[in-house]
Amino acid sequence: MDWKPNEDLIKWGNEHFKALSVDAMWTPQDSGVQFMKTAEDTFQLVFMYNHPTAREHYEKLSLLLKECGYKVLEPDDVEVQTPPLNPQMQMQMEHEHKQKVAQGWKCPECGYPLANNDLDNHILEFVETIDAELDDGTTAPLELWRYMLACNSCGYDLSVDPDDFLLLAGDEAFMKWNKGEETLVALTRNNIVDLADAGCFEESVPPFITLLGKTYKDEKVPPWMWGTTVRIVHHGGEEE
Ligand SMILES: [Zn+2]
Repeated sequence: MDWKPNEDLIKWGNEHFKALSVDAMWTPQDSGVQFMKTAEDTFQLVFMYNHPTAREHYEKLSLLLKECGYKVLEPDDVEVQTPPLNPQMQMQMEHEHKQKVAQGWKCPECGYPLANNDLDNHILEFVETIDAELDDGTTAPLELWRYMLACNSCGYDLSVDPDDFLLLAGDEAFMKWNKGEETLVALTRNNIVDLADAGCFEESVPPFITLLGKTYKDEKVPPWMWGTTVRIVHHGGEEE
């Protein structure tokens, strides 16, 4: 193969690969391949589509990894899948695959499966706002958040990126904002229909329901909960 990664790509790779923790997945978009960082200096192919360009992508990505100083392993039992022709099915399949991978994530301290933790009991923490670079070269502010939870086995403070948390815990736990004395739980359209049919909105909207904008009680609302209708659950029992 004549292809060689250019300097920019190697610079990106050096930063990106180093930042990934051991056991983390690397799934380059639209490549049809997936790697796992199995050691500080090693990536292993774990998944490949049975597609003519997937092999080529694999060769190029391997070259990039090697240029960045990593070993690349290709075991004999790599999972090879034939992609469905229907793009929607394919997205669904990719999502299910990612979910399956997430079920295998482990506590970095003790190895306890993250999926076995009490995922409803997280704390949502705003980290910082960064200038994210867009495709057209301009930048836009991007809020970084994380889900914090204690490992049920060793107590280690786990910090999980929101996209990863969604894969790991599912929509219900993801759309829940624990903020100390209150928990705000996003309602689905079906939830709202049920409440409406039960007569909850006949007089006015009850006090345990609110609509979220970008701030709530002077606090930043996580962006994926902007514009949602939420049920307010009070803790501690004293207030209402
Ligand atoms: Zn642990």
